[in-house]
Amino acid sequence: MTTVTGTRAPLAPHRLLRTEVPGPASRALAERRARVVPPGVGSAMPVYAARAQGALVEDVDGNVFVDLGSGIAVTSVGVSHPEVVAAVAAQAADLTHTCFMVTPYEPYVAVCEALARLTPGDHAKRSVLVSTGAEAVENAVKIARRATGRDAVLVLDHAYHGRTNLTMAMTARAMPYKTGFGPFAGEVYRVPASYPLRDPAGMTGERAAARLVDVAQRQVGADRVAALVAEPVLGEGGFVVPAPGFWPALARWCRDNGIVLVADEVQTGFARTGAMFAAEHEGVVPDLVTTAKGIAGGLPLAAVTGRAELMDAVHPGGLGGTFGGNPVACAAALAAIEVYERDDLAAAARRIERRVRARLEPLVGRVPAVAEVRGRGAMLALELVRPGGLEPDRAEAARVAAACAAAGVLVLTCGTWGNVVRLLPPLVIEDALLDDALDVLVAVLTGADVPGAAA
Ligand SMILES: *Cc1c(COP(=O)(O)O)cnc(C)c1O
Repeated sequence: MTTVTGTRAPLAPHRLLRTEVPGPASRALAERRARVVPPGVGSAMPVYAARAQGALVEDVDGNVFVDLGSGIAVTSVGVSHPEVVAAVAAQAADLTHTCFMVTPYEPYVAVCEALARLTPGDHAKRSVLVSTGAEAVENAVKIARRATGRDAVLVLDHAYHGRTNLTMAMTARAMPYKTGFGPFAGEVYRVPASYPLRDPAGMTGERAAARLVDVAQRQVGADRVAALVAEPVLGEGGFVVPAPGFWPALARWCRDNGIVLVADEVQTGFARTGAMFAAEHEGVVPDLVTTAKGIAGGLPLAAVTGRAELMDAVHPGGLGGTFGGNPVACAAALAAIEVYERDDLAAAARRIERRVRARLEPLVGRVPAVAEVRGRGAMLALELVRPGGLEPDRAEAARVAAACAAAGVLVLTCGTWGNVVRLLPPLVIEDALLDDALDVLVAVLTGADVPGAAA
């Protein structure tokens, strides 16, 4: 069997289209794939990646794409960051696996020390390491239930927490995440989020929190609630930033009622929103924080970090997993964290936000489909609607993403109605690449001629 590899000449430092998109090598792979991979596994892009560097992804036909997706907010330090690559190679040569539950090792402990230092709050903290974001959310619920002796879990409308049985129950959107996959885990209750574009006028953050609390009190009862699990910026649900005051009011209600506040920072964590963790923007210290995506520069690692007294409530042996905190993934995380801190990628995210807003905000009012430009740091989105109202326009979001891909720019969609175009560039993206990608996006949105790529 032949293996497809990219050209080995140095990666072109810019967008480059050598063939149509997808090219012949990607089409051949799509045929092979259709024989062995079920359609339930989707792919946003029609091309197959061969190699990548920073904010550039080269496909198997030698086309080079500007990456505004970071593998869904994972490669915030850039794809294949040289320091991550070196750390992975060195750790793999020393020790690929022993299982932390069998023979523990130092990199796991060092990652937990870093998480204790970096997550909000200066209280004593513990962390458990797992492999995926869904697993982190599952473990946060286990810990909150054990620590409180209560069962009920509150989750927000528009939430996304993963694809396992419990996290499907916690996720809001049926298609494609839940349809046909039930029955789902019990004792999960959905409460209203703060969604400024779609909430009634005058709905402040405090009022949105009061609306949530009212539903929770009436339908569950605060004394039955183990945890409120929420994303500080709704991710798959549409990059919705809650109204100011929403989180502080929820944090007060949780504290007053013995409810564990879990910030699901799987997508927002690690400098993405312009702070190391998004809860910092709200001035809130969550009891537990779940992390994954950006934590390890592209390797699978996830964590629950939280107050020592909650984390220590679980009996010995109650937490873990064969691959959890794999040493190679931990070495990658330590290298990535070094880059986040040393290169101040939170500041880089804030610079990206200014650059993107300057280009996209003028479209509101000028392009009738663009209802809003929103987000935080380098987690930014356009919500697309039918002109004249707020009816979601999913087809337009799909058109924009496909047209950008055809022009050599990788953008993703999201949103409860699938009508949001989201931008998650690597935080190390060069200004020239970002500007070029924004030129393409703006041309696609406005119907202007799309700037050509080098050939
Ligand atoms: C992606 C995501 C998850 C699930 O992470 P996986 O690693 O895909 O299991 C959970 N919560 C949030 C907020 C996410 O964005």
